[in-house]
This record gives sequence, structure tokens and C-alpha cells, in this order.
Amino acid sequence: MSASGYLREAPRRYRLEGAACKGCGAIHFPPRAVCDRCGGRDFEARELSGEGELLAYTIIRHPPKGFEGQAPYAIGIVQLKEGVRVLAQITDCDPAELREGAKVEAVMRRIREDGGFIEYGYKFRPA
Ligand SMILES: [Zn+2]
Repeated sequence: MSASGYLREAPRRYRLEGAACKGCGAIHFPPRAVCDRCGGRDFEARELSGEGELLAYTIIRHPPKGFEGQAPYAIGIVQLKEGVRVLAQITDCDPAELREGAKVEAVMRRIREDGGFIEYGYKFRPA
């Protein structure tokens, strides 16, 4: 992504911002163009709590390029209080001690480093 494109994306990357459908109130994260519940196309930004529950997870031992230094780490499906499901890395914990149903919260963290360009985004950690 170009630098200008990255800056345009910044609000969505630095806060957990979803989109609330004006037609039916469904919350989408990440935001989408068309509501999958009512077909509406009108949304308003909605900051999400970042609080949720770990529904399921898997431990990555052979990560893709750019993530080598982080293995082993856990990737999990988190159900936020708002009902939205998010796939994200689980951090600040020993992956072997995670359990399904654990309470987690979103944190901003370095996602990866690519040729001196450091990318930040959200991860979740045990709450
Ligand atoms: Zn809708």
C-alpha cells in the first residue's frame, strides 16, 4: 500500500471502528459496502468496545514471511460484545495457556515489519 493510501486507512487501523447499518442497526467489522442482513448501503461509523470472548483459536508454528520472529503465536476468532466476529492474533500470553471462552480485549500492536516499514494494527490479549 502507498504511504497516502496507508494514511487514508489510518482511522480504521488505529481504532476498532465498525460500521452500523442505518437500515437495521447491524454492526459490521470491518466495514462493508452492503449490509448482509438488510441489503442497505447507508452506514455510520461506530467505535467498538474491543471487549469480547475467544470463541476458537489455533496456534501458528510455521508462520508466513514477515511473521517468523513471532512464532509460535495464536490466531483466534473473537466475538465482540457488539456481536461482531473478528479474526486476529492473540498476544501477551502463552498460547499453550489459552482456552476457548476466555475474555479478551483489543490492543494496538506492531503487526509486522517489512523493509523498515512497520505496520500497526489490532490484536487481542487476555483481559
Ligand atoms: Zn442492515
